[in-house]
Amino acid sequence: MYTAATVSKMELSLRNTLTRESDVIGPLDGATFRFYCCGPTVYGPAHIGNLRTFVLQDVFRRFIESLGIETCHVRNITDVDDKTIRESQRSGLSLQEFTQQWQRKFTNDCQALNILPPAHEPSAVAHIADQIRLIERLIDQGHAYQAENGSVYFRISSFKEYGKLSRLKLSGIQKNASDRLVDNDEYDKESWRDFALWKTWKSEDGPNRWESPWGPGRPGWHIECSAMSMHYLGESFDLHSGGIDLIFPHHENEIAQSEAATGKPFAQHWFHIAHLRVNGEKMSKSLGNLYTLDEVVDRGFQPAALRYLLLSGHYRQPLNFTWESLAAAASTLRRILGHAEGVDPELLENAGDTSLETFIFNPVLEALCEDLNTPKALGVLNVGLQGLKALDDGAQQAARRDLARILQMLGLPWQFQKSRTETRVPPEVEALALQREKARIAHKWDEADLLREALLKQGWEVRDEVGGFEINRTEGNV
Ligand code: AMP
Ligand code: ZN
Repeated sequence: MYTAATVSKMELSLRNTLTRESDVIGPLDGATFRFYCCGPTVYGPAHIGNLRTFVLQDVFRRFIESLGIETCHVRNITDVDDKTIRESQRSGLSLQEFTQQWQRKFTNDCQALNILPPAHEPSAVAHIADQIRLIERLIDQGHAYQAENGSVYFRISSFKEYGKLSRLKLSGIQKNASDRLVDNDEYDKESWRDFALWKTWKSEDGPNRWESPWGPGRPGWHIECSAMSMHYLGESFDLHSGGIDLIFPHHENEIAQSEAATGKPFAQHWFHIAHLRVNGEKMSKSLGNLYTLDEVVDRGFQPAALRYLLLSGHYRQPLNFTWESLAAAASTLRRILGHAEGVDPELLENAGDTSLETFIFNPVLEALCEDLNTPKALGVLNVGLQGLKALDDGAQQAARRDLARILQMLGLPWQFQKSRTETRVPPEVEALALQREKARIAHKWDEADLLREALLKQGWEVRDEVGGFEINRTEGNV
């Protein structure tokens, strides 16, 4: 937390999906900012699209904490739903064994990406009793009913504001009774129906059944998040977040269930992150166009390079993933980290207020205050660093220390991580680089450019330095 006067005066304005307007972020209760992020569905490894959402939520948290706001961050584990049950049955493992292995993998990925652990990370299975109580409340008030098939559904017609988040226009209730119900956890806007809160046991659920007042069965996905968020954060809290695919039906249904049960506003602010795409399509398990963090690391990139890439797009805009853009992010980050080299991390704790006034720090903060504009923040940081060499020693030290603070705020490392394998430059690559150097000295720019291209194609980047050059792998050293 920074105590400088400049920082404490700054405020984050963030766009609210519910109102389509910007809110100044601050705690409802004047003390702690309570927020809930829908966590991973643990039926396989997270893909880097999922990780985009979790990285942006982490930057949001780090940033408001650095503005002096205390937080309580809850992010659940979805360990019972249609997908976890289906895939655990296929794997032959129990639901618990199956989901725990993917939960561990998720935790490791988060650590590698420097995503802070939430204050609470509840399992949906561990909160089934809360979910049952919430369904009972809804039935008592006429907002839910048990259908002939034994499952319990939310009565959409009983909640007049249904559709307010996704701006869904309800066009009359379907005509026959069976058309009025939807059992799947996921469906599109055109198929809105009374959705399942409690699903009666079916043979394909195997041993996964819990007792309830409506017979054995399991909860619907949507009720899980309503129950867990209210358990840890209270009936009204500050912010709720997820990727934009969760706006409908998941978050729409969460609002309906929660507000119908309590009569109070549920989350004040809705923060949604646009998708990571591949070739213009959403990265998703169902489309099979995904990459995992392991694949990123296997290709020689450090997780920090992926984090930098994910921050290089604004959270409200889709970001198209390519390996080339990851390589470019890796090399920009390497350049930035070069400026932070030699800064003692302990200085971060002890630095006085004066270091906050440098030309780097405030523009970055201002950019983040404008709707968490991470690409702008990285842009002004990179421009600012270009002017570093012109400063005297003292000013350079202050700026470098601020750079380290900015990196910390963005969850980026401030020092090089030594690559696991020392990079050895093959003789033929060195020969090409020397040839390029000769061409450059002779001012044969076209030839030098062609040779640079040839090196890049082989995965090597040459950088001109005073009195020589440096050669690095385009992937691998960050
Ligand atoms: P899941 O594990 O499917 O429940 O998703 C975890 C989080 O990742 C949710 O907030 C999703 O909205 C989000 N998500 C899913 N696909 C993408 C994507 N391609 N880009 C960004 N976020 C995504
Ligand atoms: Zn959720």
